[in-house]
Amino acid sequence: MLPHLLSPVGAHCAACGQTSDIVDGLPLCPDCLAQLLRAGYRTEALCPRCLSVLRAGQACPVCRRDPERLITRTFSPYRYRGAVRGLILRLKFSGDTQAAALLAPRMAEAAEEAGADVLVPVPLGRRRQLERGYNQSFLLAMLVGRLRGLPVRECLVRVRNTRRQSGIHTIQERQRNLAGAFAPAPGADIRGQRVLLVDDVRTSGATALACARVLREQGAADVQLLCAAIAPGAGRYFTPTKQKKKRCRKSSVMP
Ligand SMILES: [Zn+2]
Ligand SMILES: [Zn+2]
Repeated sequence: MLPHLLSPVGAHCAACGQTSDIVDGLPLCPDCLAQLLRAGYRTEALCPRCLSVLRAGQACPVCRRDPERLITRTFSPYRYRGAVRGLILRLKFSGDTQAAALLAPRMAEAAEEAGADVLVPVPLGRRRQLERGYNQSFLLAMLVGRLRGLPVRECLVRVRNTRRQSGIHTIQERQRNLAGAFAPAPGADIRGQRVLLVDDVRTSGATALACARVLREQGAADVQLLCAAIAPGAGRYFTPTKQKKKRCRKSSVMP
C-alpha cells in the first residue's frame, strides 16, 4: 500500500493505465511514449492513396469502394494498436481529452503535404455528443489546426443517430448504417475549398466516404482524410464468409 500512496498523483500512463514513472512531463510510461514517437508504418506494402495494407495481387479494399475518388488521399501517423489504441479508447470512452493532445502532433506532421484550406471534423450524433460531452474528432481537428495554422469548420452534421460502427461487421451493413446519416451544416459554405476531413480512426472507410460524398455535393474542390490511426483490419471488410464473421465477433473492440 505504501508505494502506491507515495507515488505522485497522475503517474498513471494515459495510454495503458499502468502506474509508472512519467517521462519528460508527459503522462506516458516509457514504453507507450516510445510507441507514440515511432509513428509511421515500416514493414507492410501500403496503398499510396489510403494507407491500407495491400495483399499481393489484390486491389486496395478501401479504394475499391471509392471509384469516384471522393477521397483523394489519406494521412495518418499511426496504426490502431498498442499505446495508440489505448489513447483513442480513453479519448472516446473515458473522457480523457489529454489523449487528443498526445495524438495531435504526429497527425499535424502527417498532414504536412495535404495542402488543405480547411479542417472539417467528422460529426457525432447529438445523443452521443451529449453522452461524451465533446466530439473527439473536433478536438483533434482543433489541435491539428492550431499546429498547422488551419481553420476548423464544422460543415457537417449527423442528421440521424446511427448504430455504433464497431458493432457492425460487414462493409455493406456499415454503409447501410451510414446512408443519409450526414448532411451539410446550416449555412456552411465549402464551395471551392480543399477539405481535410478529420476522424479518430479509419476502419472500413465507410464513415469518411459518407462524409466526403456530402462535402463533394456541396462543392468542395478536394477531400482528403486525416485520422489518428488506421485499423489494421480494414482489408477484411469485404463480404465476410460465415467463418470470418465469427472471427470478427470474437475480436476485441474495433472502432
Ligand atoms: Zn503506458
Ligand atoms: Zn487504397
